[in-house]
Amino acid sequence: MFVSVRRSALAAVSVLSLGAAIAGPAMAQDAATIRAAISVRDAALTDTVAMDYVTQLTTRFGPRPAGSASETAAAEWAAGYMREQGFQNVHIQAFPLVGWERGQESASIVGANPQRLVVAALGHSPGTPVGGIEAEVVRFASLEDLQSVPDGSLAGKIAYVDAGQMVAMQSGAGYGPLTRIRGAGPAVAAQKGALAFIMRSAGSDEHRMPHTGTTRYVNGVVPLPGFALSAPDADQLSRLVSYGEPVRIHLSSTAHTYETTSHNVIGDMPGRSRPEEVIVLGSHMDSWDLGTGAIDDGAGGAITIAAAKAIAEQGRTARTVRVILYGSEEVAQPTDTGNGGGAYLRSLSAEDIANHVFTGESDFGADRVYALQLPVGAQTGAFADAANRVLYPIGVLRSNVPETEGGADIGPIVEAGVPVFGLKQDGLRYFDLHHTADDTLDKIDPEQLRQNVAAWAALVWLVADSDVDFRAMRPAE
Ligand SMILES: [Zn+2]
Repeated sequence: MFVSVRRSALAAVSVLSLGAAIAGPAMAQDAATIRAAISVRDAALTDTVAMDYVTQLTTRFGPRPAGSASETAAAEWAAGYMREQGFQNVHIQAFPLVGWERGQESASIVGANPQRLVVAALGHSPGTPVGGIEAEVVRFASLEDLQSVPDGSLAGKIAYVDAGQMVAMQSGAGYGPLTRIRGAGPAVAAQKGALAFIMRSAGSDEHRMPHTGTTRYVNGVVPLPGFALSAPDADQLSRLVSYGEPVRIHLSSTAHTYETTSHNVIGDMPGRSRPEEVIVLGSHMDSWDLGTGAIDDGAGGAITIAAAKAIAEQGRTARTVRVILYGSEEVAQPTDTGNGGGAYLRSLSAEDIANHVFTGESDFGADRVYALQLPVGAQTGAFADAANRVLYPIGVLRSNVPETEGGADIGPIVEAGVPVFGLKQDGLRYFDLHHTADDTLDKIDPEQLRQNVAAWAALVWLVADSDVDFRAMRPAE
């Protein structure tokens, strides 16, 4: 489906570009456009909207699991908030979702010296049978090690993958290998005959806080209960197993799924002369249930709403700036629906997609932006130079690496051909907090949050008040 949409989108945009060239509107690198972007940037450095939004969101509604009553209420509230900030055409796009509730959970080492373990059930895991599961633990140092044992060989056992602590990196690159374990682990363990699956949390902290996160459906099911251990609990269990005696643990969970509805909140700062041309700024409204979703991803909504507001205060741009708070990003679904991002894509015609000129997603916390990744083909040239002039003074460096994917929310429209940028945030401490009970408002540094708003507002201004065409910059395939 995505491939055919993308072809028609590209065909339509070449006609649009021709029209734009005849009309002769401003280029992003015009001196006046750059001066205005710098002015937007400097005004945004004193922004108060972002901190106000994320404070109210996380305080009024707390955790916002996708499809929950709190996500629904938060969407209604956020729509009103956006209207108050001057957004127009604000509406809520509802879509069906399989939700998940944690319920109660516990884990302990059993035997002569019983010990409680601090765990969190993995999102979309089924619960255990009433009374729980008690069995011997078999430890693996990697997902590959688990995959390599014969099918059925873990009958009556609990599979445990401890691939070691995540390495903290500015780019967050340590996360990917561990999410593979979380996503695929339960299904692989089931194939080997295990009763349940446990893993070391995908996190970089040393605290006794498990990191939840979704596991994946395979053929429409999550076959086994899955749990993440906090880092010190994983250390403890792995040491005990290394002593060579059989280690038995007891696991209990009442987690369950249910049919529900989630909600994208969509609002525009309409364009002055070419309102049909749209720039989409994305983030997600839903959060995990353990914290209050301040860094993941209340901050993203805060940054994008405040950036659009800062742009509108400078003046009405030629193109429309659209902010979308996607209702569901965190949870896997039994079928590949693309969650909130998929629901938004399905609401667009091929012509709409062709008119989506630029998109970016803020979903990596609230620490400072350090790099700009532009769409394929735009790494050098007049636009990149203009962006560099505007962003370098606030510590954002132009990257040689193109942005190609965005994140889970805008992924579906990017797949459909919409040019994507990335404003890369410092991720050194992100995975200390991510998906834990410690994802709370106090972790947001207001000054770094304002730097994010300034970077987003200035970059988006350069595109919104010009006729820059990133599709035209793409190398021929
Ligand atoms: Zn997120």
